[in-house]
Amino acid sequence: MSPNNKLQPVRGTHDILPEEAARRRYLEDAMAHVCAMYGYGEIRTPIFEFTDVFHRTLGDTSDVVTKETYTFNDRGNESLTLRPEFTAAVVRAFISNALQEKLPFKAFYCGPAFRYERPQKGRLRQFHQFGAECLGLAEPVADIEMIALADHMLSKLGLREYVTLELNSLGDTQSRNTYRTALVEYFNDHRTALSADSLVRLEKNPLRILDSKDPADRALIADAPDAKAYFTRYAEDFFGTVTSSLESLEIPYTLNSRLVRGLDYYSHTVFEFTTNALGAQGTVLAGGRYDGLVAMMGGADVPGVGFAAGIERLLALTEAMIQESPGFKPAAVPLVVIPVDDAQETEALRLTQELRRHFPVELVTRGNMSKKMKRAARHNPNVVLLVGENEVQNGTVTVKHMQDGSQHNIARSELAAHIAAVKN
Ligand code: ATP
Ligand code: MG
Repeated sequence: MSPNNKLQPVRGTHDILPEEAARRRYLEDAMAHVCAMYGYGEIRTPIFEFTDVFHRTLGDTSDVVTKETYTFNDRGNESLTLRPEFTAAVVRAFISNALQEKLPFKAFYCGPAFRYERPQKGRLRQFHQFGAECLGLAEPVADIEMIALADHMLSKLGLREYVTLELNSLGDTQSRNTYRTALVEYFNDHRTALSADSLVRLEKNPLRILDSKDPADRALIADAPDAKAYFTRYAEDFFGTVTSSLESLEIPYTLNSRLVRGLDYYSHTVFEFTTNALGAQGTVLAGGRYDGLVAMMGGADVPGVGFAAGIERLLALTEAMIQESPGFKPAAVPLVVIPVDDAQETEALRLTQELRRHFPVELVTRGNMSKKMKRAARHNPNVVLLVGENEVQNGTVTVKHMQDGSQHNIARSELAAHIAAVKN
């Protein structure tokens, strides 16, 4: 590290300053509120886990594991990994806490995740996800609820009309296996055109090739066989129920037979909410069913379905399309209290504390009156409260209305009511 870089944040990370933090808090609170309507409580897992939690579950060929994890040995020589996503961590917690006793387990989460990626707009090394998981329901009703929840959250944020719900099914294990064979055959016939990464995927997990971003691969993918041709009756009925239910809920969707998730453990329904407004980083929310994951991690045979949204992408989409989330309130303009002389500082402090039970208040002290008024102006207040010698003696405060410069002497006992009237 060169000395000049020492005070910069690490590449791909950034400081979230109060204005942005307020927008994030609104977004997160609004989504958490919707989750509560669907019976999802919050879960908070540790930011790091034993490396196996992610490496075994995400699969050896996923980009996340091969290129993107932050893995390190701690001082006790344990291999740990900063979470690159939440699902494996939530499932680990589900197993550690023996939660299979009361199913379904429904939880949402929100927090930072870490991937060593090439930073770009909408692609960071520390980013944030908001997501939900439902464990213990094998029926399509859970897939539908999950999509309805995501749709509801995006509507609540005012973003639904700017995203498309893309939908696909990977089928059940049996359909996946026959489909896999068909894919291997197809891509084997076109080996020479495949990227080096996809040649490895071809050996280990050919479905993953469909998720490749390599342009040469993309050309081949366009003509690859379709999973639907290999569906079992069960897989077909399952997906049929999902699509017909979405129609009856009037949730619009587009079928995309090339949609697979980047991670190994998905089956049946996969979905993404995408936009064209964010360039290449167009997926704002992605999810699907992962029936094998809990068992793969050493738990009972418990099915699961979930999704994760990228908070930075939701914020970027908000900025690009609607500037401000509906219902978002910027921080309130504070009142400013000024003691006329230093002698009234204690009284001004007491008044400030009293008013802070009702309003945001800034206290400005020291220096002559014109200096104090200048400093007060930086807060852009509607009202400045002056506490001078007379005011202290009479139990009043001088209320200065900044818009017209008018001043009123108000009894302390009436002050809160007076200000409330002005502020509305
Ligand atoms: P992408 O195809 O964009 O790399 P992904 O398939 O790796 O996405 P998931 O693992 O499904 O992404 O993560 C869910 C969501 O988290 C993504 O849809 C996206 O909104 C967000 N996300 C993923 N990686 C990043 C990142 N590096 N920076 C910001 N947001 C991210
Ligand atoms: Mg990725």
